[in-house]
Amino acid sequence: MNHCLLCEQPIAAFPTWSGLLGIEHKKDICDDCSKNFQHADIIDDDPLFDRITSIYTYNDAMREYLHQYKFLQDIALAGVFANELRAVLKGKATVVPIPMHPEKKIERTFAHVDELLKRAGIPFTHLLEKVDTAVMGEKSKEERLAMRPLFTIKPGTSIGPGPYILVDDIFTTGTTLRHAATVLREAGATQVEAVTLIRAEPSH
Ligand SMILES: [Zn+2]
Repeated sequence: MNHCLLCEQPIAAFPTWSGLLGIEHKKDICDDCSKNFQHADIIDDDPLFDRITSIYTYNDAMREYLHQYKFLQDIALAGVFANELRAVLKGKATVVPIPMHPEKKIERTFAHVDELLKRAGIPFTHLLEKVDTAVMGEKSKEERLAMRPLFTIKPGTSIGPGPYILVDDIFTTGTTLRHAATVLREAGATQVEAVTLIRAEPSH
């Protein structure tokens, strides 16, 4: 018997064909907890992207999930949205996770975006590297963002026309994704999409 990773109540297992065939990720959370997550299904226009898709809204349930997953480092939670992610990511595009700074990765113990993709069974390629911003420590975040790109193309990789799908956990202001898309387009990509698990309204 499986137990819900969020509330620990037992989950009744009704085997499905896709589950038996290993196509579908088994349920990690119960139906009661699933109901607390609200679909966003946002697809919007931004000139840098052919399409941006966000799957869920940033409500209380999602805030709690993200906290437990990212900050309390509960890697077991990586598979909770595997089926939803696979539904929007399957295809022929090259999936490119937004990279984490190597030091951050050590601090957080795992790369949370990579892990979401692994559990969803989505192959991905790291094409971007985070630029070291430590030398700009005196500047505010806004000043740093305006100054120079957050990412560079990973040395030794060649960028074709695409399509590429950038993947991040959360879309707030979109700055991170826009930086990543700009770098890819400047390197020759002509088709760039973005998918995020969550869409948050930027705080004012
Ligand atoms: Zn539950």
